[in-house]
This record gives sequence, structure tokens and C-alpha cells, in this order.
Amino acid sequence: MMLARQWMLALGYALLAALAVTLTRFDGGVAFLWGASALLIAALVRTSMRNWWAPLVTCSVVGFLVTGFLGLGWAVAPFLLIANMGEAVIAGYLLKRDRSSGELMASLSWFGRFVIAMLVGPVLMAPVAGAVLWAFDGSFVATMKHFAIGHALGNLALTPIAYMMTGRAARKETRRIFKRHKKAALTLLPTVGLIVFFTFWQSDWPILFLPVMWVVLVTFRLGRLGAAVSLALLTGIGGLLTAKGMGPVSLTGATLGDRMQFFQFYLAATVLTVIPIAADLHNRQKLNRSLRRSEAEFRLLADHCTDVIMRISIDGQILYASPSVELVTGYHPSELVGRHSRVLIDPADFARVRDEHRATLAAGGEPRTYAYRTIVSSGEQRWFSTHGRALLDEYGEPIELLSYIRDITGAKADEREWVQAALTDSLTGLHNRRAFERAADGRIAAGAVGADCVALFDLDRFKSINDRFGHDAGDDVLKRFAEVALKLTRPGDMLARIGGEEFGLLFEDTSIGQAYEICERIRREVSGTLRIAEVQITVSGGVAPIGPDGLAAALKSADEALYRAKQGGRDQLLLAA
Ligand code: GH3
Ligand code: MG
Ligand code: MG
Repeated sequence: MMLARQWMLALGYALLAALAVTLTRFDGGVAFLWGASALLIAALVRTSMRNWWAPLVTCSVVGFLVTGFLGLGWAVAPFLLIANMGEAVIAGYLLKRDRSSGELMASLSWFGRFVIAMLVGPVLMAPVAGAVLWAFDGSFVATMKHFAIGHALGNLALTPIAYMMTGRAARKETRRIFKRHKKAALTLLPTVGLIVFFTFWQSDWPILFLPVMWVVLVTFRLGRLGAAVSLALLTGIGGLLTAKGMGPVSLTGATLGDRMQFFQFYLAATVLTVIPIAADLHNRQKLNRSLRRSEAEFRLLADHCTDVIMRISIDGQILYASPSVELVTGYHPSELVGRHSRVLIDPADFARVRDEHRATLAAGGEPRTYAYRTIVSSGEQRWFSTHGRALLDEYGEPIELLSYIRDITGAKADEREWVQAALTDSLTGLHNRRAFERAADGRIAAGAVGADCVALFDLDRFKSINDRFGHDAGDDVLKRFAEVALKLTRPGDMLARIGGEEFGLLFEDTSIGQAYEICERIRREVSGTLRIAEVQITVSGGVAPIGPDGLAAALKSADEALYRAKQGGRDQLLLAA
């Protein structure tokens, strides 16, 4: 593998070097256009630095032979090698050092770094080449100039294509482009070749703009592959024909050396036009791909989420509903899109939801959460909770509302159950002390002061009941007392177990006489019917009106009356003093 690659490199390097040396040397100096280094640079970038010696040795040997046989001769060859290898090593190092630059034509900043990497080597090595030729009676300044320009341009124009042909990812992309845009690739790329050939073969018209137009077109169509191939064709065909004295550049009538220089600047202008386009296009494609990926991710989420995602317009129209909406509401998304979101909202909650909608739009993208009742397609009422957030435009103005909706009917039912449990006495099923106090406080808050009464009952000698019959039997007595009391109170009266064997009664809009009456009936019924084995159960009680001092004061008065009833022999009911 490695060996095969070295052979390929040797062959390519020999070919490009031979072409440059035989066709672009005019004044006995160095070549005017040198593309061989591009191959070496690409090989260096693709090779780990530890193994750089292999391509360097390969190209040194080939370069030495080409210069010896075809170029400046055997004496110069070893010294010129230093300049050629040095240039490639500098470019390879600069490209490799920056990890992101390994990606060809990936961005405009890549382009900047690439141009610098292609220029620095030739410029730094130009004095070496100048000194070598000067030592062998050449011109120091002219050699420096030709070396720097010829090598920089060759590198700039040919390194991209050398890149595209080496490296697995680049080759894969090349194959992919060829597969996907087969027709375009097979027509456009040869057309570039033909147009370049025609332009530089004829010498009648100054049509240098023609290839540039085509190269730009091909780059738009085929991306960086199009750019790389076109630039290679332009450099190769255009450079060789110009060096042969043909083409529009010959219309200038200048010496061959000056024409070559003119061609070099033409090539530079084209490279500097085309590569940024390719880089920018590549960037856009990447952006496009990542947008498509995030779109797919969102779809995946929306499609498989059991909660509903909706987009709602500013005036309340449903713009989008995720598929799960069918599971939750019974409506297919297509039945909802375009309709006003009120189709889902219980009329009783509509005004509140509309206010929440407006508040969310005004919240500058801050999320808001609210719960409301909805009517689903079966007509059933359910509870939904919405996390809403406004989508803003670039000026911070709301465009639409993004809602994340969850069916919380089950949770609401649980919540009701918990509230119920928290207010209920589990033994008797009556209200508990908390519910009793809450009801009494509610009455006072409602301004019903002076209209209500409260009563307290405490079973007599209950400890001895427990002692004689056991705690379970005692519990049973408590339950039976609750049944008796419940039977004798009116539907609006509130009976609660407020302590171990203590019960409270809240009578709304009831005079103290009426309340006493009802309590007395309870006491009599208990002492007449409630017994355990042969033991008669009795109960004592106190009744008091609820005055402006509130429930606590009224309970205290009722408790005092109850205490007096106990003192007075039990099984009796007394009014508060
Ligand atoms: P008094 O006539 O003075 O009220 O005598 P009493 O024995 O009832 O005395 P007191 O009210 O101070 O005692 C209450 C007793 O009620 C204490 C406890 O053994 C019993 N008790 C309290 N809560 C429960 C309960 O939930 N179940 C049962 N079985 N007994 C309870
Ligand atoms: Mg007690
Ligand atoms: Mg008691």
C-alpha cells in the first residue's frame, strides 16, 4: 500500500517536474511554472510526520534525476533539491499544524490559511534557489522572482486537486459527486478542458475571460471537486500552450518569459476567485446539512413524544400540531391545523387561556405555564397543562407561540383525591379538624359573622370502654356515633371528628336554639340506642354561637360548656354562658 503510493507519487512528480522543466524554462534559469510540489505537499499532509521521510526521499530522487537529465544539470540538482523539498516541508507543516485546515476549501478562513501556506515556502526558499543559480553563473534576482512566483502559483492551483485525489474522505467525496452529478460531471469537466484548450490554442481573439466564466460555473455546479479539476486543467493546458508560444497571451507580443509571467497572474486571479466560491459553497452545504439534521431531530422528537407540541399564531390559529395530538385529543393534526385553538378549550376557561396566550406573547420569550380544562373530540372534558413560549424575530417581536402541552387529567384527579384525603377523617369518613376549621374560617371570611353556631361533643368515660372492650371496639363505637350524628343533622350542617373521641358541628345560618335542638336529639339518640354489650354509651356536649371573635373563641366557649356538662354528671348538653 505504502509502496504503491510511493510509486504513484514518484510517477506524478516525475511527470509534472519533466513538463515544467522541458516546457517552462526559457532563459536557462528555473521553471516558470512548477506544479510538482503540489503533489508532495498533499502527500505530506496525508502522511504522519514520523513517516515524512518516505515521500521526501521519493521526490528527492525523482527531482534529482529530472533536473539532472532534463534541467539545469547534475551539479545544480542536489542544491536545487534543498529549495524544492524545503518549500514542500514548510507548506506541509503549516497545513498540518492547523487541524481544521485539513478540510479542503471548508471555509473562507481556511482559504486565508491555505494561501499563506502556499506562499510562505516558495518565498522563503527563493533566496536559496537564487544563491544556487548565482553560484553557477545565473541571475540571483531573476531566479528568486521566477522561483517564488512559479512555485507559489503551481502550489495554489494544483494542491487542491492533489488533495482531492489523495486521502480517503476526499476520494469518497469525489466518487460521491461523480455518482450523484454524473451527467453534470461528465459534461462540464470535459467542457472545461475543451474551452481551456480552445482558448489557449487559438491566437486570434483575446478571450481569456471565457475559461474563467466556465470554471466559476463548474464550481457552482460541482463544488470543490469542480474547482480543483478546473484549476488543474487551466494550469496544465493553459500553462503548456502559453509556454509553447500559443494562445491569447501571445497577442501581447512580449517575450516568452514575460508572457509566462502574464499567464501566472491570470492564473492567480482565477484561483483567488474560484477557491473562495468553492469554500463558501461548501460551508453553505454543511450548514444546510446541519439544518436538515436538526429538523429531522425535531421531527423525531415531535413524532414520538406523548406530549403535544403545537405552534400557534399570534391570533390563536393552530399552525402545527405534532402527531401525538391525536392520542391526546382524538383530533388528527390535519383536523386542527388552520383552526382556532379555541376548539380545544373549555368555554369556561377560554378567557383565562386567551389572557395567558397574550401574556406569553408579551413575555419576550420567557416560558409560562398554565393549566386549563379542554374539550376533546369525544366531548369529554380533560385537564391540559401548557408550557408556552413566544418565538421572536430578529427584532425581539413575537412571531408565534410554541406550546408544549400535556394531558394532566390523571394528575388533577390524583390532586383532588389528595386534597380530599387531607380533609377527611379516615376512621369515620367525616370531615377532619382541618376541614372543620377551614369551613368555619370560610364563613367568617364570607362575612357570615353572628349567623352560625358551633357544638362540641365528647364521648363519656371512653377510656374505660377501650379498657374493657379493646381499642377496636372503641373505634367501632366512634363510627357508630358518627352514623347517629350524621343521620340527625341537616344536609348543610358540617359534622367533623376534631379529636380522638371529640366531634364538632358547624351550623350555618342557624340560631342557637335550633342548634341546641339538633344536638339534644343526637345526645338522646346516643344514650337511648348506642351500647356495647350491656354498657350504655353516653355523650356530653356544649353549644356556642360564633361571634365576631371567630371560631377559636366560639370553640373555647363550647368547650367550657362541655366541661360543665361533664362536671354536672355527663350525658348532658349545655349552652355556653
Ligand atoms: P370523659 O368522660 O371525662 O371524657 O372520660 P374519657 O375517658 O373519655 O376521658 P378523655 O376524653 O380524656 O379520654 C379520651 C380517651 O379516648 C382516651 C383514649 O383512650 C380514647 N381514644 C382517643 N382516640 C381514640 C381512637 O381513635 N380510638 C379509640 N378506640 N379510642 C380513642
Ligand atoms: Mg376527650
Ligand atoms: Mg371523653
